[in-house]
Amino acid sequence: MSVPSSTVQTTLGPLPPSALGRINAHEHLIIDGGYTVVKEPDFRLDSVEKGIEEVTSWREAGGGLIVDTMPFGCGRNVDKLERISRATGVPVLVPSGFQKASYYLPDHWQHRFDAQTIAELLIDELLLGADRNNYDAPIIDRSEVRAAFVKVAGDYQVVTATTRKLILAAGLAHAQTGMPVLVHTEMGTAAEELLDLLEGAGVPPARVMLCHMDRNPDPSLHVRLALRGAYLEYDTPGRIKYQPEPVLLRLMREMIDAGHGDRLLLGGDTARRSYWRAYGGGPGLDYIISVFDQRMRREGFSAAELDAIWHHNPVGWLGLN
Ligand SMILES: [Zn+2]
Repeated sequence: MSVPSSTVQTTLGPLPPSALGRINAHEHLIIDGGYTVVKEPDFRLDSVEKGIEEVTSWREAGGGLIVDTMPFGCGRNVDKLERISRATGVPVLVPSGFQKASYYLPDHWQHRFDAQTIAELLIDELLLGADRNNYDAPIIDRSEVRAAFVKVAGDYQVVTATTRKLILAAGLAHAQTGMPVLVHTEMGTAAEELLDLLEGAGVPPARVMLCHMDRNPDPSLHVRLALRGAYLEYDTPGRIKYQPEPVLLRLMREMIDAGHGDRLLLGGDTARRSYWRAYGGGPGLDYIISVFDQRMRREGFSAAELDAIWHHNPVGWLGLN
């Protein structure tokens, strides 16, 4: 069975591409509990009010759909995502799937269940609704909001046995639902191996988003991945601790000039209190559109190039082109 793909399932219901606007392809609006915030308190984004404040700035700067990337078991709260979305009118995509294993206790069920069992849990979130209890409780309580994609995560330079199994589960879920896959890469490493494994599991590269690739801004690697059809997500703007912005601007220009402007996506990935102005930090969730977009325009990126990055490319990843 394959789901008709003229719309995407958002917190505001199914929407066509024309309602999605400029898309933030990798973001975190709520991180509410889980081992994630025990390990790193700065990750705790639990306030709906502060989420509304940041997403309002994003909308006022011209932003549209936001792809939230915190899956179950590590801080997802589908009801809070829906409240932020309804209050701001900004649609949000809710993920199913898995963050990197270090964000869960080492005895998490992902390490024990087989791929088929895990695939069924993913498929139910994609077709029936995200579990409010995040598959952490003996009771499943489905939201009306369905998950729109499956997340899997690589580690630094390696793909573990558990990740290989989760990729098989993602492949089964893709076969059944047609939903895309979003991949956390650790600093852009192991990206080719992750893409090989996904392709082997039946997910076409053109339905795969490889995230954080600009933390390894290696043009020849990026060209190889783009030639296979994968989407490359960049999210270091404003996060100067990773690298100064000219590195990313040069990479994007090089990718576009090499003919791969149709594979590039931008995300904020502002997953810390210290990144949000609402918590007294910076540069703020709206930065990529209110500041970095302007910089790209000043530095010669054309309207058509920016439309591809902000809209057409993420819409393609969703399978709506
Ligand atoms: Zn992230």
